[in-house]
Amino acid sequence: MSKIVIQKFGGTSVQDADAMRRAITIVKKHGIKRGIRSLVVLSACAGVTNALIRIGELSLLGKIEQAHKAISDLDQRHFGILHDLHLSLRSEQEASLALRYIWRELRTLVRGVELLGELTPKMKDKLLSAGERASTVIFSHALREDLDDRQVTVHLFDAREFFLTDSQFCSARPQVNEIAKQMKLIGKRLTSGAIGVTQGFIGSTKRGETTTIGRGGSDFSATIMGVALNAQEIQIWTDVAGIYTCDPRIVPHAYAQPFISFVDASTMAYFGAKVLHPETIGPAVEAGIPVRVLSAKEPEKKGTTILTRPTEDIVVAGIAIKRNIILAKASANAMVPQCSTLPIVFNALRTKNIVPLATSVSFDDILLAIEATDKYSELHEEIDKVSKLEFSHHHALLTLVGQGLRYNPGIAAKLFNSLKQINCEMISYGGSENAISFVVSENDVETAAKNIHKEFF
Ligand code: ADP
Ligand code: ASP
Ligand code: MG
Repeated sequence: MSKIVIQKFGGTSVQDADAMRRAITIVKKHGIKRGIRSLVVLSACAGVTNALIRIGELSLLGKIEQAHKAISDLDQRHFGILHDLHLSLRSEQEASLALRYIWRELRTLVRGVELLGELTPKMKDKLLSAGERASTVIFSHALREDLDDRQVTVHLFDAREFFLTDSQFCSARPQVNEIAKQMKLIGKRLTSGAIGVTQGFIGSTKRGETTTIGRGGSDFSATIMGVALNAQEIQIWTDVAGIYTCDPRIVPHAYAQPFISFVDASTMAYFGAKVLHPETIGPAVEAGIPVRVLSAKEPEKKGTTILTRPTEDIVVAGIAIKRNIILAKASANAMVPQCSTLPIVFNALRTKNIVPLATSVSFDDILLAIEATDKYSELHEEIDKVSKLEFSHHHALLTLVGQGLRYNPGIAAKLFNSLKQINCEMISYGGSENAISFVVSENDVETAAKNIHKEFF
């Protein structure tokens, strides 16, 4: 009986034939050993989900020719990847047929959007599912052919047949117990020696309607599948070698933490470290399954292992950054006592389904840091009765994360020392013991991140 590992590859790790070949080498090295079998979970090829969103928008605007042109571009790109993999004629033909079916379905969908003049979340999910379905078709054929001489069977499992979710299209909630039941058969096949390939991000309702679980959700799919299969380990293969002390695109000196606690990794993700989807860690923590973040470009690097309790205590784990933040300020009306303003503001947040990333309350004002993607302007409807509500745009939230923050004196002093030259517009600490967040102007975010990094790492 083999043990199971989950190997999730993100968009850049399957973006072209070279990337797919690298991923196959990784699967062979880290996913197929004596007694180990892998379930490979894939994202769409880099940029494809964005292209599909654009196709939906174009069809809604009635720009149907442009939408069809964009579908043809996707068709060509995927066919190009398939062709560059130099598979046998038979595999290439089989994969092309499956891909053609996906593009045909897209064209029908686009026509439907144009005719109805609407793109419902349900239709959007069907549209978006094309990306992951296409990448897995190509990858599974390439892997199958590569493993042919080892006599390892490769199955392509359609996530829509086992990854059950509720029907909140575009941000559907996975039904963990149902998924575990549905995955039993997959588990049996893997433990008896086969390899599986499937899609992250997509699933279906119990009525068989296609759903997606939110942008970047393939990481989350991978951990849920890992828990359902009682996997030994969940490997997230991406374009960086682990969870870094800060986004390396912003702070080039940032480095990968060899180990990080589940709590710090979740906090980093929640406050903007895009390397993991914020919900990824939850299921793995409950099941105690280690998660490793590794680079598909530099697979020899050790990456980061996320554990319940790393042996080494890390005081400060990293700096997370979220751009595109709005500051919403509710100034209490002199006629309304503050004790009634607070519940009205929080009730408005609940009604509009907005969770502020940071809050600060004083005797006359309530300040909230909100993501600009939220429907923040709708807060007016609820709050205007009791309070003047003002928004200020183009901010960024920086969060210093680490379980040592609470117990090590002097951290706040060091932090603010590093921000001497920067105008800090809001500070929030205490809600999470392992996170101090503050808001600066978008223009200052890079300097602030570099300065703090220099101070702490
Ligand atoms: P994938 O497509 O593999 O899911 P993502 O683009 O979603 O990859 O996530 C990887 C990116 O996350 C990196 O390229 C990096 O720029 C960004 N990132 C942000 N914060 C961090 C961090 N603390 N550590 C590593 N990467 C980070
Ligand atoms: N393809 C999806 C996205 O781009 C899911 C993922 O890659 O995790 O959001
Ligand atoms: Mg991602």
